[in-house]
Amino acid sequence: MEMGGAPPVVAKKTTHTPKAIIHQKFGDKACYKVEEVQGDTQNGCPGLAIPQKGPCLFRCSLQLPEFSVVSECFKRKKDAEQSAAEKALRKLGVDPAASNSIVREPWDELISRLSYLFADEFLSSLHPLSGHFRAALQRDGDLYGLIPVSVFAVCDTKLGNICKSINPGVESNPFLVIPLVLKAAASGSFATSEGQLWMRRQNPYPPEIIQSSISSQLSSPESIWIEAVYIPYSLEKNVESLTLNVSSTGYYLDAIARKLSLADTSKILVSRTVGKASSEMRLYFSAPEWYLVDLLSDLNVEEVTSEEGSFNARASYFSGHAIYGNAILASIGYTWRSMDLFHEDVSLQSYYRLLISKIPSGVYKLSREAILTAELPMAFTTRTNWKGSFPRDLLCSFCRQHRLSEPVFSMLSTPLKQSSEVSGSCKRLKVAESSAEETEYRNGAGVVPHGNESVGSGDTFMCEIKIYSKLQDLIIEYSPKDSYRKHSDALQNSSLRVLLCLNTYFKELDMPLEKLASAADIHIYPEKFAKTFASCPSIHNLRQRNETQRERLLDSNSINQPYIMPGHELYSFNIKGPDSGASPSNGSLACINYVAFLVAEGEHMKERVESNDEFEFEIGVGAVIPHLEAVVTQMSVGQSACFNMDLPPQELILAATGDPVKTISLLSSKVCFLEYSIVLLRVTEPLEDRMEQALFSPPLSKQRVGFALQHIKESSAATLIDFGCGSGSLLDSLLDFPTSLEKIVGVDISKKSLSRAAKLLHSKLSRNSDAGEPSGGIKSAVLYEGSITFFDPRLYGFDIGTCLEVIEHMEEDQACLFGDVVLSYFCPKVLIVSTPNYEYNAILQRSNPSNQEEDPDETSQSQACRFRNHDHKFEWTRKQFNHWASNLARKHNYSVEFSGVGGSADVEPGFASHMAVFRRSVPLGTDNHPNPVDLIRQYEVVWEWDRSNR
Ligand code: SAH
Ligand code: MG
Repeated sequence: MEMGGAPPVVAKKTTHTPKAIIHQKFGDKACYKVEEVQGDTQNGCPGLAIPQKGPCLFRCSLQLPEFSVVSECFKRKKDAEQSAAEKALRKLGVDPAASNSIVREPWDELISRLSYLFADEFLSSLHPLSGHFRAALQRDGDLYGLIPVSVFAVCDTKLGNICKSINPGVESNPFLVIPLVLKAAASGSFATSEGQLWMRRQNPYPPEIIQSSISSQLSSPESIWIEAVYIPYSLEKNVESLTLNVSSTGYYLDAIARKLSLADTSKILVSRTVGKASSEMRLYFSAPEWYLVDLLSDLNVEEVTSEEGSFNARASYFSGHAIYGNAILASIGYTWRSMDLFHEDVSLQSYYRLLISKIPSGVYKLSREAILTAELPMAFTTRTNWKGSFPRDLLCSFCRQHRLSEPVFSMLSTPLKQSSEVSGSCKRLKVAESSAEETEYRNGAGVVPHGNESVGSGDTFMCEIKIYSKLQDLIIEYSPKDSYRKHSDALQNSSLRVLLCLNTYFKELDMPLEKLASAADIHIYPEKFAKTFASCPSIHNLRQRNETQRERLLDSNSINQPYIMPGHELYSFNIKGPDSGASPSNGSLACINYVAFLVAEGEHMKERVESNDEFEFEIGVGAVIPHLEAVVTQMSVGQSACFNMDLPPQELILAATGDPVKTISLLSSKVCFLEYSIVLLRVTEPLEDRMEQALFSPPLSKQRVGFALQHIKESSAATLIDFGCGSGSLLDSLLDFPTSLEKIVGVDISKKSLSRAAKLLHSKLSRNSDAGEPSGGIKSAVLYEGSITFFDPRLYGFDIGTCLEVIEHMEEDQACLFGDVVLSYFCPKVLIVSTPNYEYNAILQRSNPSNQEEDPDETSQSQACRFRNHDHKFEWTRKQFNHWASNLARKHNYSVEFSGVGGSADVEPGFASHMAVFRRSVPLGTDNHPNPVDLIRQYEVVWEWDRSNR
């Protein structure tokens, strides 16, 4: 072989493949026929209940003069051929050099790959590894041309894959490539390693080759300073920032070795990439002696893991394989794009961002760039209201982060029986029928198959999710109960459900798994689950470590209780500015501007850790930290507010702050809390409210108030209950007119709405009574928290009851229960109930200007069955409403009269909102008096106003 020349044939084959032996014996009398076999569910993975699709398997029949054989099924044609040949040899009684027959081919491949890498031409190619080759030629003296073997494992994917086929353990521990490469190199004649962890080309490159590859690379040497992160193996020690000084002509691994206090650069081990696939971020470390010895002597190094003293839990957590000793996280290396060394700073903040990106809520927070503010929402209402990355993408990213297989989404579609318009319930479907047809797909780079999403065909969808480890062990299985009209809604909702479950776990890492999997729709395989996330508890210090600090802050007055009701305490959030009346309510989008400061208690030190000029979030789904939502719902547009909070987990603060060093010193030396300063910039109301305001004059809500007023006048009512009063819009409006009312009461289950109502009523009642305004007749006002499906004896026999736009927020059976309870127990003289007319939706949707800005997906699909508000559990046609109200009235001795607001009774499709006015036919008597058993007070007073007390 010529000096330095690429060896055309590397190693002579010492053994022969079965096919080669057959060829020797039979020549072209041996006839191979390969056929494709349709995907077989038996894929060698017990328990994997996913039909494996596609023509991925091959079977080979080998016809010899005397007999024929058929191989098993293989993924690759040539494996099938070899297997057939091997079977034939067995039949012939020939032992195809038994021990080596299976690994022989990959071995050959490995040797030929290495010889390619060490060939002349490779030196000037664009390849992550050729960069190392060139840089090694810049090394001095004995080190000239030396390359640590470890870089072969991570820089050449092809080589890695060949090694994987020889030793599948490489998948979980890439360093197992090292002994294989060294062994292969020893059997070739292109490299030497002399029992070391480095390799060098056996014969020097011809000078002209060196010349051309080096000259194309560099001008003059310069110093490059790169920020990196030092991760000590001891969890007691902090992660720190460090600077690497690399000469542009030198070998960067030498600089890293110096920082690791390592004399021999070849002992450096390089991890696979960490974080986003595109970056060159890797962990560098020097394995302890014993590890290297074990590695080279083919011991299974994975067996000795975390027990070992120098195990680096943090670094291992990021790389997904065991890392020992201190490690450096740096983004540096050669790429496919350029001959030059690629490098990027890795700040301490990047480290903490990497850390929180392992947690579902952390990935979400990062996608919103609001780490101290955003929370993973509890519900996926609409695509437009969901901000940040979508649940499906979050789930995929979670799985990638934890080196799990891509989640498997299985879509069940159920044809919806086309029911006749009036009698069919328009309720959201809850059960899928048995004829469900299954479409399933692995989530690859591709998107869900939207193409066949039959618009308007009336199918409903449910999405099952399975999460597997890389080794295809099932870890989590989600079987949904709800189905959705839209493919993507099913997908996103199911993904969110799984994410929330995982997030619960990460919030409380020591919780028993049984507790986590207590919901019936989600199944966790505890053994596999625990194994997968075994290292999380030692790494995420999510819980407050300093309990005393926490208590002190909670005791101090700086903390507001979110739901303090009575009177002026509502203002203790320090809300400033005039009340503009425009406040967010459930389903609306609030847009705020905020700054979060880290404040040292009792000091004048305040550090801005996060801020955002425009941050929009949906109210009512837990899309932000609870304190913030509690404050924002008390504010109106244009107002500003300030509140304090005890510290969230430290890793969140460090991921948010731009100056982690300063923050760490503040956190470690002082008792700190967070101070938020916010301004409510605008509120986008839910679609329903926007429609009602834009399309009706006066707005529908005002028309409902007008309707109630007219009945109050007609009946000279002195007492009124508003069932499901919400934020008190009706009660508040009533105070603008002179009426016969003396006592007004509101009941609702939502504390948040009630606190808003309390605030409104409080200010108007005190103002009015001082000024002698219309509401002067009102003697008392009370707000109760409770469900209107329960009776409270304090509210018996009122003159008038209102229940406006409430029943559609309850399940249908609950709405019926409310009807029975109100007419048989509360027994108001008059009861007014309103709810949307489903038939009118077509008109609203056609003429609603705000539809344009909605997600096209949202409007184009299932138009016909869309409700006005995501929280509606049903919307009734005229026939359905009349049916419900008439039956109810008959049952309880009331008369009922139908009316409505918006539109007209005489023009199709009737009013926009149904109205029913029930009137009690008999006076209150003993027979309809509540039973003593029922005289338990079910409601709790949350706010009370009494004129005599003022
Ligand atoms: N009547 C108000 C609010 C309508 S929104 C208005 O016209 O503006 C519907 C309200 O019903 C919400 O505030 C919700 O909290 C309340 N609600 C839903 N189910 C309830 C129940 N079981 N008991 C009491 N309130 C209920
Ligand atoms: Mg409603």
